[in-house]
Parts: sequence; structure tokens; C-alpha cells
Amino acid sequence: MAKVKQRQLGGLPPKYGFIVNPYPEERVSRCPLCDRKTGQRKIPILIHVNPKHLIALNYTCRYCRDCNLLIAHKHEIEHYLTVLFSQQAPDAIGNDYLAVGTVEKSAWKEGLKQQQSIDKLLPHASDFVTYYEELQLTRAGYYQAGQKPPVAVPPPSQEWVKTSHESRN
Ligand SMILES: [Zn+2]
Repeated sequence: MAKVKQRQLGGLPPKYGFIVNPYPEERVSRCPLCDRKTGQRKIPILIHVNPKHLIALNYTCRYCRDCNLLIAHKHEIEHYLTVLFSQQAPDAIGNDYLAVGTVEKSAWKEGLKQQQSIDKLLPHASDFVTYYEELQLTRAGYYQAGQKPPVAVPPPSQEWVKTSHESRN
């Protein structure tokens, strides 16, 4: 599986692998890397939203203990981002974004209490060890011998989209 490179932001050593599932119907109950059953892990995910927003989202990922892999559902992440940004920065809704790592839960909680800026969280953040390309599934159905099942095209974003009167970026 291809890996995407990025520069390090967090002050702590990189911790988890990360993959995004873009299919709303797919629960990823099995790990895409090793096919073992996945569990859950609730952890603050650090997300960069263009042009200059950095937020920590406390989110329940699917998790494979064996691969140390967090799996996030794209439509859920975009739902939470839309709720958050509709209050804080509606202009940024629909902009490109990238999950960059995780934040220690204690630092994240402290940040909520004292309204700390994200700069204060970065020393307590860990980049992802590996950021995998989006999950790809093949389309279900019957195929002839030797025929390769086509890749299912994920549906477009429903909520995290620019509306016409807001499209300035
Ligand atoms: Zn696994």
C-alpha cells in the first residue's frame, strides 16, 4: 500500500498508522492490512484544515492492535468538522484538510478547560508513523474467471462541501 510523506509537526515520537475509509456503508470491522478483527480507540485526532486551521477532534476510530492502525470514517470526520467550523469559521467548510496525528488525551482535556491555543498542544502531539492512502474496495458482484473486480468509487462528500455563496478559496 502506498504511503504519503509529510513533515513532522508533533513534539512526541510518531505513534499510530492511519487510514481513511471513504465508504459510508463500510464499517471496517476487519483490518485492511492484516484482516484481523478491529476494535475501537477514542483519541484526539489533530487535523489541519486549509488555509491555517489546526484542530483536535476527539474521535472514536476503528483500531487494529496488531498493526497499531487507526481507521477513521471520512463521512464522520467531515460531519464533526462541519459542525465545528459552522460556528468557528464557516468560510473554511469544504476546504482541503489532512489528519496529521494524535494528541495526548490529558493535554487535549487541559486545552478544553483553559482554551489553550493549538501551539500549546503541539508539544503533546504525535505525528502518524504511516499515513496510508484512502481505503479502496472492489465492487461486490459476480465476475468471470480472470476478470478483475473494479474498484468501487466512494460517494462524494455530503456535508463538507463549499456552497456557492461561500466559495472564495
Ligand atoms: Zn491489522
